[in-house]
Amino acid sequence: MTNPLLKKFDAIYSTAPFSKIKNENFKPAFIEGIKNAKSEIDAIVNNKRVPTFENTIEALEFSGQQLDRISSIFFNLNSADTNDEIQKIAQEVSPLLTEFSNDITLNENLFKRIQLIYDIKDELNLTSEQEMLLTRKYKSFVRNGANLNEEKKIELRKIDTQLSKLKLTFGENVLAETNDFELHLSNKNQLKGLPNSVIEAAELAAKQKNKDGWVFTLDYPSYVPFMTFSDDRKLRKRMSFAFGARAFKKNKFNNEQIVLDLVNNRYKRAVLLGYKSHAHFVLEERMAETPETVNLFLNDLLIKAKPAATIEFDQLSAIAKKDGIEQIQKWDSSYYSEKLKKELFDLEEEKLKPYFKLENVIDGVFQISNKLYDLNFEEIATIDKYHEDVKTYKVTDTSGNYIAILYADFFPRKGKRNGAWMTSFKGQWKKDGKNSRPHISIVCNFTKPTTTKPSLLTFNEVTTLFHEFGHALHGMLANTNYPSLSGTSVFWDFVELPSQVFENWCYEKEALSLFAKHFETNELIPMELILKIKKSSNFLEGIQTLRQLSFGVLDMEWHSKNPSEIINVKEFETISFKGTQLYPDIKENCMSTSFSHIFQGGYSSGYYSYKWAEVLDADAFSLFLEKGIFDKETALNFKTNVLEKGGTEKPMKLYKKFRGKKPNNTALLKRAGLIK
Ligand SMILES: [Zn+2]
Repeated sequence: MTNPLLKKFDAIYSTAPFSKIKNENFKPAFIEGIKNAKSEIDAIVNNKRVPTFENTIEALEFSGQQLDRISSIFFNLNSADTNDEIQKIAQEVSPLLTEFSNDITLNENLFKRIQLIYDIKDELNLTSEQEMLLTRKYKSFVRNGANLNEEKKIELRKIDTQLSKLKLTFGENVLAETNDFELHLSNKNQLKGLPNSVIEAAELAAKQKNKDGWVFTLDYPSYVPFMTFSDDRKLRKRMSFAFGARAFKKNKFNNEQIVLDLVNNRYKRAVLLGYKSHAHFVLEERMAETPETVNLFLNDLLIKAKPAATIEFDQLSAIAKKDGIEQIQKWDSSYYSEKLKKELFDLEEEKLKPYFKLENVIDGVFQISNKLYDLNFEEIATIDKYHEDVKTYKVTDTSGNYIAILYADFFPRKGKRNGAWMTSFKGQWKKDGKNSRPHISIVCNFTKPTTTKPSLLTFNEVTTLFHEFGHALHGMLANTNYPSLSGTSVFWDFVELPSQVFENWCYEKEALSLFAKHFETNELIPMELILKIKKSSNFLEGIQTLRQLSFGVLDMEWHSKNPSEIINVKEFETISFKGTQLYPDIKENCMSTSFSHIFQGGYSSGYYSYKWAEVLDADAFSLFLEKGIFDKETALNFKTNVLEKGGTEKPMKLYKKFRGKKPNNTALLKRAGLIK
């Protein structure tokens, strides 16, 4: 019996043989893949010749390719088309993969060879891409303690174990506190203002708990619409209070000590490795590079956005006043924002949707990619796929050269996780004179067509498709030597530039007129609707900017200094919020104790990157606006200096080559209507 995952993929583009793969093939394939990767690494370590860039760094870069291929197929399926069996396999193979990657980073003989080469790197005449590869490989060891003595290594492992336990507990506490609360209503009068769909969902939630009436929870799909639409101010207050008090009450799920332990352990770890703070450690591998740069960035935006935010806040207060509210509070913000939005724009999604039939939008995306980057897309149904809903395309350039394979998986189904993302089934690299092209995939959850109606996208879904397609362009146009520096493998605060910049075309008449046609009448979207879309996209931009900045500042405060003197989480947080606060503080509430992004997820010292990416994309797009949104020269410039280059050079260097200067926030502030 042969395992299709371990055989050479024999299809014409060597795409994954999905139809032949059975679930029971995965685990043996992983085990074999790990075994083969290990022996490739052993061969590097045991090489009797003097370590060179080729026999060590390059050899390491191209080791484990079989395992990478198996992993990407498996984990992509686990996101897009999973089932109990696949999830069980994931549980079983994850520890094997962790162990394997630890075996590499803790391999002292391997590190010795890398260090020997790193120490003489200036004498080696490396290209900038090779130097980047060497530095990244070297740093991946050093940042895990390879340079420490035995005693300090043990200390580092202890801190790492502590940190993963603390993160886990933090998340469990937030989850427990989120699940612990429910708002159970039994009187119809308490539902005033709520749309029918929200009421139906609440009724279903009650039924599932064997209750009459309606149940609302602190989960976003329940919480957000309740806070946006409920006319009952007392109930909004109850919900908001409960939300803000998560993991901050005097019970066993309190996260205050966990937060302090987390930041102190992170600080200790950074200092042990020779950094001034956790933020210094994290930002070493970011475009921003230092906490000083991030702080200046946040402060400058704050100064410029605050006047607009204050005006908007007064606008909200004014309409709340009509309802007799003297002091607008946190629990009024979504509610009156929605009212103000209605008053100002009256932009109904239902009016827009007929202009955005999925097939038309895809065609628009393809046309724009063709105008900018000369790409052609041909649907090829014979490419093996993992689900019948998936569409497969061969992508070529104007000379007919093969560029990439694109998978597109648009509709929700059981076994697909929520949201939208871009991923790859195979990376891009050059080896033995051959440019091995990538297999890219975009996965979304758009409204499915019915027998009577095609899939009509909301405008939000349109921008989502453009966003993911921007990532896909980064992947498809990749043109580097080394797979780990290719496509979207760039520093974290640079990865959203290609995706966000591509969203800008959705707001331009010249681009919309290519595809935004009524699905029944073929009539072009009216100009007044385009203007409304543009205007409403800036709605309350000042307040929203201030909110994002407040989280970014809090994150940097926690992580860019020695935290050992901090004793009171709430007090510390209150001081850090001083410059960004609009609503009165609620003393029973705390943000940090449920700030999962930075204390559980991977965003510590990274929250700023949301705004950072916006500044980049607005600044980059302003060049297109200046030269023409389909200007070939500008597009070629972006392609050759950003999209093709992946992570082969530092992001700021790439960006400056494209833009001719460093980015600044003027274009973003203008686009957002915060300055004239
Ligand atoms: Zn993205």
